[in-house]
Amino acid sequence: MKNIQELFGSYVFNDSVMKQRLPKETYEAFKNSVSDGKNIDGDMADTIASAMKEWAIEKGATHYTHWFQPMTGITAEKHDSFISPTEDGRIIMEFSGKELIKGEPDASSFPSGGLRATFEARGYTAWDPSSYAFVKDDTLCIPTAFCSYGGEALDQKTPLLRSMDAINKQALRIVKLFGMDDVKRVITTVGPEQEYFLVDREMFNKRPDLLFCGRTLVGTMPPKGQEMNDHYFGVIKPRVAKFMRELDEELWKLGVLAKTEHNEAAPAQHELAPIFTTTNIAADHNQLTMELMKKTAAKYGLVCLLHEKPFDGVNGSGKHNNWSLSTDTGINLLKPGKNPSENTIFLLCLAAVMKAVDEHQELLRVSIASAGNDHRLGEDEAPPAIVSMYLGEELTAILEALERGEHHKDVGKISMTVGTKTIPYIRKDNTDRNRTSPFAFTGNKFEFRMLGSASSISDTNVMINTMVADVFKEFADFLENSKDFDSDVTKLIRKTVKEHKRILFDGDGYSKEWQEEAAKRGLKNLRSTPDAVPVLRSSENIALFERHKVLNSTEINCRADIALENYSKTIHIEALTLIQMVDRDIIPAITEYTSELCNLVLSKEKLSDEINFSYETAVLSRLSNCSDKLYELTEDLKSAVCKAQNTNGILEKAKLYHDKVLFIMNNIRLVSDEAETIVSRKYWPYPTYGDLLFKI
Ligand code: ADP
Ligand code: MG
Repeated sequence: MKNIQELFGSYVFNDSVMKQRLPKETYEAFKNSVSDGKNIDGDMADTIASAMKEWAIEKGATHYTHWFQPMTGITAEKHDSFISPTEDGRIIMEFSGKELIKGEPDASSFPSGGLRATFEARGYTAWDPSSYAFVKDDTLCIPTAFCSYGGEALDQKTPLLRSMDAINKQALRIVKLFGMDDVKRVITTVGPEQEYFLVDREMFNKRPDLLFCGRTLVGTMPPKGQEMNDHYFGVIKPRVAKFMRELDEELWKLGVLAKTEHNEAAPAQHELAPIFTTTNIAADHNQLTMELMKKTAAKYGLVCLLHEKPFDGVNGSGKHNNWSLSTDTGINLLKPGKNPSENTIFLLCLAAVMKAVDEHQELLRVSIASAGNDHRLGEDEAPPAIVSMYLGEELTAILEALERGEHHKDVGKISMTVGTKTIPYIRKDNTDRNRTSPFAFTGNKFEFRMLGSASSISDTNVMINTMVADVFKEFADFLENSKDFDSDVTKLIRKTVKEHKRILFDGDGYSKEWQEEAAKRGLKNLRSTPDAVPVLRSSENIALFERHKVLNSTEINCRADIALENYSKTIHIEALTLIQMVDRDIIPAITEYTSELCNLVLSKEKLSDEINFSYETAVLSRLSNCSDKLYELTEDLKSAVCKAQNTNGILEKAKLYHDKVLFIMNNIRLVSDEAETIVSRKYWPYPTYGDLLFKI
């Protein structure tokens, strides 16, 4: 057995490596700079770069890269080798502080929503010293942010770091009000649970839809799906178990705290949950996790599907973003405390999140909007597109009592000591769960469950951090001027609960009744990405992001453009793929089977006049009906795609892709799926759902 303790983080230039390899003063100064968010000067950078290079070379690295996260949703790297020529024609291995701090990838092809055209043709990458460098594929990877020369964010990390600063700044004001003067920093922590599918590579390669789109565009469910619930937490198949073991080890080497691996609800679906960590590191680690899932799968003849809805008829894949707030002194601000004053800050933070989620439902919705995720939301497998919040029976009862100003001793199962004023003593951890809720309190953190499996967690955390920072700001502005703090805090919590309780919902989020009830409460139901994205551009939202220096209006508009463009491009590719599949594979398969049946009829006819052709006639008529319909619909689809592609406005275009192109694609699917059930297995051109989901 391998020594996991030794393995863990062995490819990471982490704190203990730095402590060992950096001069003491440099190490101390570096740590202080990181914790205070200060700049790192040239000398310090040179010393660190040199130690990093030595260490990386010992780990087998020959190259280095500024590892960054452009708005494609995945990571980017451009490798430079360490070599540098000497005068006598040899080489030395070099890596300077300057190269560590700043890079200039010629990255003009990354999406910028037109940003770089208006500023500079190229952007630069800047070291994020709060996320450790690591060695992957013989390359020293330096986590970096990616900006334009005008300073505009071109990536996912920059706004995330800014939002962490914003919430830190406002949360510090709150904790100071409670006399926690030793706190120097408030950080947000995240643990993202990642779902994925594994399919056999050979079968994958036979399906153009999986190959080009990452999801199946046609396909019927086999007789057995997930209805028996026998896959969820079931015994893991040997090939998959080996994959998981290796994945864990690869992740551990990179310091990723992979903790739990289990089977998920759908056949061939699995989940990996890491132990939570600081948000920007969690985001980096989640990117690494997705990358390594794909790479490791390939070693076992498998393909890892990260798409949100690879198969119709079984659950899709999501990502649960577990989020909390911690002080650098180790106090989780979303954990009910042992005494009334700890509970006051807990309830205040809870109220702040409640207000933030209610006021900015739309931002949460837009943060997870993508063509892939649209297929999941609102089905019986993922939260609805309506954002609501679940606190559990006990906390809800406490908040209701507070709202009424009651000094209740018992609310349900909870005993409360009414210490100062009306602030209860919460004895019991609240861990009730409502799996249908999009935003659920789970004991000491909030779990936001609307994220899609394929995208970065950055956008969502930018939103949560910024909107909660904004409420903290409002609270701190009020409380810092208070004459009677105890009474004003209670009043503030009470007022917040009263004004925002419409966002609380404990019932079945999947039900029809909730849709109606939510509409009555004025909660937003933004069903598709084109419905959701324009929200970003509202003047209130731009003001919110500018107020906290997270994104300016240019950056926001660019992000909205990119989201819509990605949406249209995704559906465009899917439509072209489907057209090809129908024209070249599906209709020909139907025709072949038709011809076989016709030949059968002809040869039977020769045998006798008495033969009845009721079977052949029925099947032939269904087949010809299918191919006629498929032909018609595919011609419709071609013109819809043309029309959408020739439309100018970004939003109009996305809407056409949604309303027309996607709509026709769904109809094609229905016909093709009917054909799949009639055409002989011998002629059907693709591995079926049964093959893909059950034959690993
Ligand atoms: P479940 O599947 O029931 O939601 P898991 O145990 O699989 O629960 O996942 C819970 C996730 O929440 C883990 O990634 C865990 O590390 C994370 N988590 C726990 N505490 C915190 C916290 N204080 N802040 C952020 N994430 C947390
Ligand atoms: Mg979960």
